[in-house]
Amino acid sequence: MNEFKLAQPQSVGQATSFLSQKPKGCHIMAGGTDLLGEMKNGIIDAEVVVDLKSLPELSFIKREQNKVRVGALTPVSELAENSFIQNEYSVLYEAALSLATPQLRNVGTVGGNLCQRPRCWYYRDSQILCLKKGGHKCFAFNGRNKYHAILGGGPCFIVYPSDLAPALISLGAEVIIASSKKEKKIPLEEFYVLPKENLLQENILQPGEMLKEIQFPLKGSGEKSTYHKLKERGTWDFALVSAAVNAQITNQSFKEIRIILGGVAPIPWRAKKAESVIKGNRITQSLLQQAAQEELRDAVPLTDNAYKTKLVQSIMSQAALSLVKT
Ligand SMILES: Cc1cc2nc3c(=O)[nH]c(=O)nc-3n(C[C@H](O)[C@H](O)[C@H](O)COP(=O)(O)OP(=O)(O)OC[C@H]3O[C@@H](n4cnc5c(N)ncnc54)[C@H](O)[C@@H]3O)c2cc1C
Ligand code: SF4
Repeated sequence: MNEFKLAQPQSVGQATSFLSQKPKGCHIMAGGTDLLGEMKNGIIDAEVVVDLKSLPELSFIKREQNKVRVGALTPVSELAENSFIQNEYSVLYEAALSLATPQLRNVGTVGGNLCQRPRCWYYRDSQILCLKKGGHKCFAFNGRNKYHAILGGGPCFIVYPSDLAPALISLGAEVIIASSKKEKKIPLEEFYVLPKENLLQENILQPGEMLKEIQFPLKGSGEKSTYHKLKERGTWDFALVSAAVNAQITNQSFKEIRIILGGVAPIPWRAKKAESVIKGNRITQSLLQQAAQEELRDAVPLTDNAYKTKLVQSIMSQAALSLVKT
């Protein structure tokens, strides 16, 4: 790891001011569980690390009149241990609990989880200069692509690894982005970008900007949610495929439904085609199969990951049916 300067801001204003002074060589560190790995492996070369741990005021979960606010520095473990989240937002509780190990959940933060970098093994290998690192080739395309994207891929085929992002998008979450100039609020769904829009980064953050807070509405009446995650190993692992489902159910049909898939695309993938097949209809196994097939019509599996289409079909049905049964 190269030498770097550690900046410990005393306010959000000071953090964004540090970030705007050296936008290229400056990296934000929250829990450091991802960033330090990238630095040690020589994937990024930081001149300045802005350590957000000096801002404990960014760690909170607050219930307000019509929304819930979560500070970007809140440890993931607090989402999994908070009884209000546990009782009202199963999708978020289950996603937080499915993530990594207890130790990593204690150190890793919500903001860091939403901004983490891809796990593609070619990207994580400092000796390989692929498209995402400014090179000329995607090594996964004709290489080892078992864990890569089947939807929305090209020219890079990463999958976005966060478990919290699909869950929060299913809840209609918004994020507050701070910079030295102003704050802005955008839907989390619009935070992520496909590689064809920007190869080098996975979100819309501009140099000098940081994620400050996440907000989502209070649970509506009849609203139910769940997060299902399929992993290769029984112990900790990233999702092969996951599904966050948030729905309003009346008389055994889904009046409203949001389905966000993880592990299948470079961004948390909103399954809009499946949602429109399901919405308003009486829920049956065959309707759910039809919905998954509709969503997968645009899927383009690579050489080793066609198995993900079957996983999508089964996880979508399992997750949606579990809401009807509870
Ligand atoms: C062994 C292992 C297993 C894992 N398993 C899972 C898993 O199953 N599911 C899953 O979802 N994740 C998993 N992860 C990823 C882990 O959840 C993330 O590393 C963690 O949540 C990141 O949080 P952090 O606070 O440590 O982020 P950091 O490492 O500090 O930062 C991560 C990235 O986000 C940027 N960043 C951090 N905070 C902000 C902010 N507020 N604004 C803008 N940018 C910011 C940093 O610059 C960096 O690029 C795993 C990681 C490891 C090492
Ligand atoms: S999938 Fe993306 S990160 Fe992986 S080798 Fe291809 S370009 Fe690089």
